[in-house]
Amino acid sequence: MTLPSPDGATPAMAQWFSLKAEHPEALLFFRMGDFYELFFSDAESAAGALDIALTARGTHGDMPIPMCGVPVGAAPSYLARLIRRGFRVAVAEQTEPPRKPGKGGPKGPLARAVVRLVTPGTLTEDELLEAGRQNLLVAVAPRAGRGAASHGWGVAWIDISTGTFETASIGGERLVDLLGRLDPAEILAAGEIELGDFASRRAPATVTPQAATARKRVAETFQAASLDAFGTFSDEEAVAAAMALDYIRRSQAGRMPRLSRPHPHEDGGILGLDPATRASLDLLRTREGGSEHTLLASVGRTVTAPGSRLLAEWIAAPLTRGAAIAARQDGWCWLVQEGGVRAALRQALRGAPDIARALGRLSLGRGLPRDAASVRDGLAIARRIARALADGRTAPPTLVADAASHLGEATALEARLNQALAEDLPARLEDGGVIAPGFDGELDAERALRDDSRRIIAGLQNDYAQKFGLASLKIRHHAQLGYVIEIPAAAAGRLRERSDLILRQGTASAARFSTDELVGLDRRIAEAAERAAARERLIFAALVREILDDPGPPAIAGALARLDVLQSCADLAAGGLWCRPEVTDDDAFTLTACRHPVVEAALPRSERFTPNDCVLEPAQRVMLLTGPNMAGKSTFLRQTALAVILAQAGLPVPAKAARIGVVDRLFSRVGASDDLARGRSTFMVEMTETAAILNQAGPRSLVVVDEIGRGTATLDGLAIAWSVLEAMHSTLRCRSIFATHFHELAELAESLPRLSPHTMSVREWKGQVVFQHEVVPGSARRSWGVHVARLAGVPEPVVRRAARLLAGLEKDRAVGARPLPLFSAGEARANDVGAKEAGAKDVETTQSGPDDAGLPDAVRDMLDRMNPDELTPRTALDMVYALKKLM
Ligand code: ADP
Repeated sequence: MTLPSPDGATPAMAQWFSLKAEHPEALLFFRMGDFYELFFSDAESAAGALDIALTARGTHGDMPIPMCGVPVGAAPSYLARLIRRGFRVAVAEQTEPPRKPGKGGPKGPLARAVVRLVTPGTLTEDELLEAGRQNLLVAVAPRAGRGAASHGWGVAWIDISTGTFETASIGGERLVDLLGRLDPAEILAAGEIELGDFASRRAPATVTPQAATARKRVAETFQAASLDAFGTFSDEEAVAAAMALDYIRRSQAGRMPRLSRPHPHEDGGILGLDPATRASLDLLRTREGGSEHTLLASVGRTVTAPGSRLLAEWIAAPLTRGAAIAARQDGWCWLVQEGGVRAALRQALRGAPDIARALGRLSLGRGLPRDAASVRDGLAIARRIARALADGRTAPPTLVADAASHLGEATALEARLNQALAEDLPARLEDGGVIAPGFDGELDAERALRDDSRRIIAGLQNDYAQKFGLASLKIRHHAQLGYVIEIPAAAAGRLRERSDLILRQGTASAARFSTDELVGLDRRIAEAAERAAARERLIFAALVREILDDPGPPAIAGALARLDVLQSCADLAAGGLWCRPEVTDDDAFTLTACRHPVVEAALPRSERFTPNDCVLEPAQRVMLLTGPNMAGKSTFLRQTALAVILAQAGLPVPAKAARIGVVDRLFSRVGASDDLARGRSTFMVEMTETAAILNQAGPRSLVVVDEIGRGTATLDGLAIAWSVLEAMHSTLRCRSIFATHFHELAELAESLPRLSPHTMSVREWKGQVVFQHEVVPGSARRSWGVHVARLAGVPEPVVRRAARLLAGLEKDRAVGARPLPLFSAGEARANDVGAKEAGAKDVETTQSGPDDAGLPDAVRDMLDRMNPDELTPRTALDMVYALKKLM
């Protein structure tokens, strides 16, 4: 929307135009008294988005100026709504105190300046944040240099609400993986950098500094001589870090929040998960954006917001180093054994406040009295927890001991906050009464002066009533006039003459007078109150500095979050249904009686989840899984992938036992991934994703894929599925589960020694299909499509007609030619798959044993007559020649 020219604006509007010009991409919240006002197109957009009245104020160039406003007190909730709708907001405050009416002094509108730019990646208020989620600002800078070898990125991420500040230098193709893991609220990246699905989170304009300048600027932010003091940073990491810091400095109008020192990550050490894999597994959010029915929700037993943020981080970034994984496991296994410690820890944590976010607000000068109280209460709880941890019968493992070692820090600060803060805290500092009596002599004196004067005034009412002979005389406090004598208008007449009374105001019902004494007391009260408030502000600011200068609170916040995650795991594992997986350095892969935690939790009470084993050990590292729709294939694929994520995140796994050789990259392609909105056909998406797997998976990877080749014509699809399966088996040599409708592929087991065909067991009972959700060796052979059509509610005449057609087709097929020499029953399945493409579902059964439906009759006769137990080697060889001739 375009703005009118500022020419001819009133002085106030001229100020608005100049502030707006500084932040054209943001809505300008222009402070006027107790409101933030918005004008012109800002007003129109905000009124629509917030559903508030759009009015007009004054005119500009003879046209009324559209306007809307929100009360300052309610601003956070309005800001939250605007940010969620994708707006950015510049907040302009009055930067000089309101002027007293009267002569002299500067003229024109009060000075105003933008004190803060509110953007999705720079939020600090609880109202604007999700308690259990990080809120990251991510900066991306390209690696300098030319050629493929230099292709890479520096990435920095900061959560100003908690002070997290980390960086990584990564290879070219890993950018979207990392963005998928971080799920940024806002991304700083030059326009030409491809952000894929994250493009909508790009901040408007960004400036990329030179490497040397960047290093200097980051070091200076932390008062260090050189960035090397914090670790080894590549140039592109330093540039990204400086971009993020500059952006924050600008958005906070020069103020810097308290940030931890930048922590560089090595590339590697984290399980590779691309965005398609994350999307197919519903790790932290479902594809619809919800947080229910996710892996996080199904394993989360944390009781604090920082704990649930950390658990989400662990799930988003599983590890690849056995020692680090084992350290986490040791942590929660200890708490499983130490039931008493666990209960006490859980109980104490329940009351623990979000220290990290309180510190974030305090460091930006946005701290409320309750934020200081959060720190105080958090420190007290930490001390209690330290005592609880010391009560264990056995020595705590490293992770717990390390957390415990921080908990006793900052006791001096805790004592000081206990003395300083009043018991009942007001919501805002301006309300007064934040600092406890007895903490500061000067403050107490000002308060005493104020309160004494109030007491004197209360006594004066009696004196005056007697002196003036008027029982109805009252002393009241009046907003504009201060303390006044108030008497009914009827009685006022005779007092007007008195020289010791000054008439201040007369109305129809009452007259208000003051005396010199009252004026003096009033001034003393006002001045003492003003001085008390100023003193209180000063003391609070000093306390905030003490809090921020103390290294204890952030360390304690981190320790409490870790302990919360460990107790969450222990709570889960203590039920006996979740195990500690054995994570090894070899190619092992055996899950025993593994379950899908989300599907299991969603089953109705009357149904039980069927656990399944999954063995992808070196001798049978590729599993070919066939079976009808609805039989539980995708559930099985996903639960296998989830087990790896949980195991490598150091968490318990929903299985009886699990032995997993560390996976370096996990690929999961399960469930429909229609990407038609982006103009790519299903098949194109499928092939792009298949290409990604084939180009990246290696012998340490795990691949679970569902129905490769479904998006194209049957024979095409079959051929592609076949060659992909061969490549996984023999070239990539990765552990994999390959679910398919092309059950002909099971015959490849003869030529691919590590392929193990499995299928979902299905029973037919009184003409109905019963899915048993059990994975058994063998391959599917019968089609159940017509049965599933009936289950799905396809009208009975259509189902019956389909059954007749199928019978006819099957008869034809028995004598017809086969589409590909390898396959024995291709044509019928071609029909199955064709029906599936058209939207119907096909099903196949599992009775194991060879499928002979498509064999020529002569071959079948010969096989029927033959008894293998009676064959000599010589006759057996003759039979093979004879059979070959018949084929
Ligand atoms: P497919 O991928 O073969 O079409 P799904 O994995 O989507 O089948 O499973 C279909 C439904 O069957 C699931 O929504 C779930 O309710 C149920 N289900 C799947 N696996 C199991 C299991 N192991 N135990 C119990 N119910 C299951």
